Amino acid sequence: MFDLFWNHGIVRRAVERGMIKVSAMNIRDYAQGRHSMTDDRPFGGGSGMIMKAEPLAKAIRSARLEMQGARTILLSPQGECFNQHKACTLADSKGLIFICGRYEGVDERIYCNYVDEEISIGDFILTGGELAAMVIIDAVVRLLPGVLGDPDSAVNESFNDNLLEHAHYTRPRTFEGIDVPPVLISGNHKEIDKWRAETTLIRTFLKRPDMLADRPLSDNEREILKNWRQELNVLIQG
Ligand code: SAM
Repeated sequence: MFDLFWNHGIVRRAVERGMIKVSAMNIRDYAQGRHSMTDDRPFGGGSGMIMKAEPLAKAIRSARLEMQGARTILLSPQGECFNQHKACTLADSKGLIFICGRYEGVDERIYCNYVDEEISIGDFILTGGELAAMVIIDAVVRLLPGVLGDPDSAVNESFNDNLLEHAHYTRPRTFEGIDVPPVLISGNHKEIDKWRAETTLIRTFLKRPDMLADRPLSDNEREILKNWRQELNVLIQG
């Protein structure tokens, strides 16, 4: 799974440019015994198998030797929910070690002794932590300086400053009866910036009002909402 992932898109570009180093470890390589067992039945009975502590601990210690100062993250549906703010924090780390669970999850003692933080990518259950790790790696790598072709792309995106990004249009000017907003083809960059600031705020208000709840509004944003209220009042009063 990871070989495919490392060899595509921005992760591949970051690897090729030497901006990041990546590798996947096979827990079986750290298992002991003739059968190299990495999972076992749960104490107390019950369904499923549990990933054994010893091979995981060995693998984590080995990864830490390679990556001094790295944070160890357990992917788990029980963790703190991943978001853009967390992606920015992780992008500042010296390195990241992801523990990808399988079956019923990992022996709790790994969580107690080796994990810096437990992260979930949402309130649903995946079969394994690999896809969750890839989601996080993708979101983090694109924030590293120089990875995206245009550095502004990461700055102007949704969730920065608790706002969603404005709408986008490209050619043709008319598609299935819908025109591009005239301001975007006016060539007036001051007006374009104003339109973008307005639509950013208004679409955040309409789609994700929760994002604005704890966020102080700037004077300009207050003005945008006041104007919008006036326009709505005109519409409501007919
Ligand atoms: N029995 C566990 C529970 O109920 O909490 C779920 C185990 S799940 C089938 C197997 C592994 O997939 C987990 O150990 C974890 O690494 C990964 N996983 C599943 N859902 C996830 C999520 N929402 N976010 C991050 N990792 C997840």
